[in-house]
Amino acid sequence: MRSHYCGKLNETLIDQDVTLCGWVHRRRDHGGVIFLDMRDRDGIAQIVVDPDTVDAFATADKVRSEYVLRIKGRIRMRPEGTQNPNMPTGMIEVLAKDVEVLNTAQTPPFQLDDHNKVGEEVRLKYRYIDLRRPDMIEKLRLRSRITHSVRAQLEALGFLDIETPILTRATPEGARDYLVPSRTYAGNFFALPQSPQLFKQLLMVAGVDRYYQIAKCFRDEDLRADRQPEFTQIDLEASFVDEQDIMGMTETMISGLYKEVLGVDFGKFPTMPYSEAIQRFGSDKPDLRIPLELVDVDDLMSSVDFKVFSGPAKDDKGRVAALRVPGGASLSRKEIDAYTKFVGIYGAKGLAWIKVNERAKGIEGLQSPIVKFMEDVVDEVLDRCGAVDGDIVFFGADKSNIVAEAIGALRVKLGEDLNLYTCEWAPLWVIDFPMFEADANGRLSALHHPFTAPSCSPEELKANPETALSRAYDMVINGTELGGGSIRIHDQAMQRTVFEVLGIGEEEAEEKFGFLLDALKFGAPPHGGLAFGLDRLVMLMTGAKTIREVIAFPKTQSAGCMMTDAPGEVSGEQLKELNIRLRQKAKVEEEGQA
Ligand code: ASP
Repeated sequence: MRSHYCGKLNETLIDQDVTLCGWVHRRRDHGGVIFLDMRDRDGIAQIVVDPDTVDAFATADKVRSEYVLRIKGRIRMRPEGTQNPNMPTGMIEVLAKDVEVLNTAQTPPFQLDDHNKVGEEVRLKYRYIDLRRPDMIEKLRLRSRITHSVRAQLEALGFLDIETPILTRATPEGARDYLVPSRTYAGNFFALPQSPQLFKQLLMVAGVDRYYQIAKCFRDEDLRADRQPEFTQIDLEASFVDEQDIMGMTETMISGLYKEVLGVDFGKFPTMPYSEAIQRFGSDKPDLRIPLELVDVDDLMSSVDFKVFSGPAKDDKGRVAALRVPGGASLSRKEIDAYTKFVGIYGAKGLAWIKVNERAKGIEGLQSPIVKFMEDVVDEVLDRCGAVDGDIVFFGADKSNIVAEAIGALRVKLGEDLNLYTCEWAPLWVIDFPMFEADANGRLSALHHPFTAPSCSPEELKANPETALSRAYDMVINGTELGGGSIRIHDQAMQRTVFEVLGIGEEEAEEKFGFLLDALKFGAPPHGGLAFGLDRLVMLMTGAKTIREVIAFPKTQSAGCMMTDAPGEVSGEQLKELNIRLRQKAKVEEEGQA
């Protein structure tokens, strides 16, 4: 039907006849001449319809925004003074000979250029219109380029693209499962995979050696922050590898991708142990574009006459950390109050600070509600942070995890608010994660997942589970965890030990992962892998603000779909077939009968 895409027209095609198909982006009437901006997937071209092409003009006169047209015409230079060098097709226009309406359109719920004026819900309800916006199409195009490049690179490395089941059993990645009732096994349920973790490990036992999949994963989490109930991973696994092999291959892959798609050169990624990341940046996914660091001052604060500081400073599980912000003395009281509120989200009970106006004047040169409690140590504290005139130093004092989370988040927020970035891209590997984390009751859970290999023997693991480290690694770019993985346990005894430490009894282990434990008996090779969050990767590479912007049909924050109205009710007949009776419905029926 068409000879060219609108967005691909340019000066090299002058005097050529073209046939274009697309949507009316805008229609303007200019003293008897009609201008149509015609849009397709590739961009916008200007169409000129003169009154002397009588039929074409009559048709063009009737068209409205978003009508679907086919236009035949000839390309010519735009007249001097009307050219638009900022637009790819801005030097030329198409003089229409024939205008055919392929379909009409109702007035759209929002004009594409005005998408900001309607709420996201409207955009999601009419997503097919929202996706017509050139920058949305651009994001989908980039997503497609990324998956194409990833596939090409992995295939070249000998990875095989293998699909794993969607209807399966629970895979423990720490979230709630999406369940699907079975019709043939009354009362039983499938779980949608939180990841292909167990299957990819079984593929290694099968001898596949290198597997990858662009895999849909499902996690029924409370959708805080920027999560989606279904999302996509670039999932891979390989046999006879160690950490260096997996990290090396995937670093090359991501670097190759950035080079190919964005022309960015990453160089070698630095590697940082988890403990150092928490210590210096208060986060296991530090944004290294921001030059601020947490500085520990527990030793200095343990003697001050200020319980808020001395308490945590003396507590084994406590921490007092300072964060110096160069030039931050100019922050207003209101701004500081807002930051105090901000750290409250992370459990901090307050935010102490010292403004360094003129250090040479000693205490007099400092402005702070707390400095009076720490006159003896304040100089040393400021020295340790490297504070100079014009700076502000913030303090966090609490349980170590709260300080890390609160001051770590403050560091990121300040970096963003004050635009402190020192570079555009800062990738790194975080390694040496703890095997387990303890909840408030001391119950351990796997920090990664329970198939991750520890870097110690089963005996050592049993003796000191809380200090044991794992062979896991995360790739972090600009403060976003882009991917994570680990070397896995391939030995039955070690796997049983990990389950034991996690309080998963033999019976439970057998019931939940018996098939994996079985497989480990039949010659499982050493193996490991990693999964990247594709949505986050595309978000980072396109500069999108949320992952919803890079998913064609995302769900809302409450895990629903505005467009299809999913999830929806099902008929009583369907429920009956599935042997399901709804509690609420049953109650309503009972009440009705009573
Ligand atoms: N299955 C893991 C996850 O989804 C990734 C991996 O260990 O390969 O986080």
